[in-house]
Amino acid sequence: MALPPLMPLDEARDKLLASLPRLCQTESLPTDQCAGRILAEDVVAPINVPPAPNSSMDGYAVAFADLTNGELAVSQRIPAGHAPQPLQPGTAARIFTGAEMPPGADTILIQEDAEVTESGLIRVKEMPKKGEWVRPAGMDLEQGETILRAGSRITPAAVGVSASMGFTHLGVYQPLKVALITTGDELVEPGQPLGPGKIYNSNIQMIGTLLEQAGFEWVRMPRVEDDRQATVAALKEAVSKADAVLTIGGVSVGEEDHVKAAIESLGTLNLWRIRLKPGKPFAAAEIEGTPIFSLPGNPMSSLVTFSLLARPCLMHLQGAKYKAVTHLPVAAGFSRDVQKRDEYVRVAIIDGVAQMLVSQNSGVLSSALTADGLLHLPAFEAIEKGRAYSFMPFDSLLHA
Ligand code: AMP
Ligand code: MG
Repeated sequence: MALPPLMPLDEARDKLLASLPRLCQTESLPTDQCAGRILAEDVVAPINVPPAPNSSMDGYAVAFADLTNGELAVSQRIPAGHAPQPLQPGTAARIFTGAEMPPGADTILIQEDAEVTESGLIRVKEMPKKGEWVRPAGMDLEQGETILRAGSRITPAAVGVSASMGFTHLGVYQPLKVALITTGDELVEPGQPLGPGKIYNSNIQMIGTLLEQAGFEWVRMPRVEDDRQATVAALKEAVSKADAVLTIGGVSVGEEDHVKAAIESLGTLNLWRIRLKPGKPFAAAEIEGTPIFSLPGNPMSSLVTFSLLARPCLMHLQGAKYKAVTHLPVAAGFSRDVQKRDEYVRVAIIDGVAQMLVSQNSGVLSSALTADGLLHLPAFEAIEKGRAYSFMPFDSLLHA
């Protein structure tokens, strides 16, 4: 059987994102429970933040024009949280950080620049600039401005900003339910004896953790043997239990790889084989409308295809707008001949330069502990030492 040509990663992702639906209902949640969720509606500021001008320093609120008139009497005291009176012309108001400016004052004379005379009058030691140390109304957020966008991930900062506008609840998407299937006769779970020919099932825990971090609800399906009928049965069950299905392993071209054939017997294979190293055998499919993403089983291949392909697709299904993983230009500390696949190599950043000091074998997961991230080496070009390539730090890649 002729294999389909390899598809570039970006093309595969764009094609999938363009064809996948949004599967999740919306709900209203208390703001402090929203971090990590996807916002279902734009959030417009109902008020100015801050609502009124206030002082950013301890000192004296004055009308700038009065400062040239010599000493000023103190006509009121305004601690934070207390309503000011209009400023009596020709006087100063004692004021503290965060306190609202009295109407009629436009400038803060900070206390370090003021001297209090024996008779309690205020004398200027150092002239402020007009308007100095005043935080105008709406400095942070302007009433009517769209502050948060539907489809964005709610960060702790977004929770804080929502609270600063007085919101108690936000409209968010419910979490997508993802069934996770691992395949392979060789796999046993940690805690079980490691018999001959066996290895521990590390991927279910790693990818499960990544699913959880991304805000999905995930269902741990029983491990599936390398058998066509067992794989078919597992897929049927997974489809009945979840909004989307992730499989790991068994999607390559070996005799013991049954995932692709099982999917094809139940549904439609939309895409298979990416111009990517590690991670070539990635597949995307659907069974009775349920999207399926199949990751190759080598742990580094699972990690890379999950982060760069499966997660963006699952996020889309959950209502998120696509957001690329953070990537920065970093100089390669090595050169390399032309290759036919885009390669994501594990690199350590040393003195600002990306070095391939760790094993690039896709079975060596521990290299993800010592590397700082992945450097993208484009297909069909010779890689030149000293030239900048796109670097994705694991910090953002694994927590996106
Ligand atoms: P496969 O994609 O099934 O051909 O597997 C490729 C390699 O990844 C093999 O060496 C498998 O033993 C290994 N592998 C597959 N699934 C897992 C898993 N869940 N945890 C750890 N290693 C795995
Ligand atoms: Mg296998």
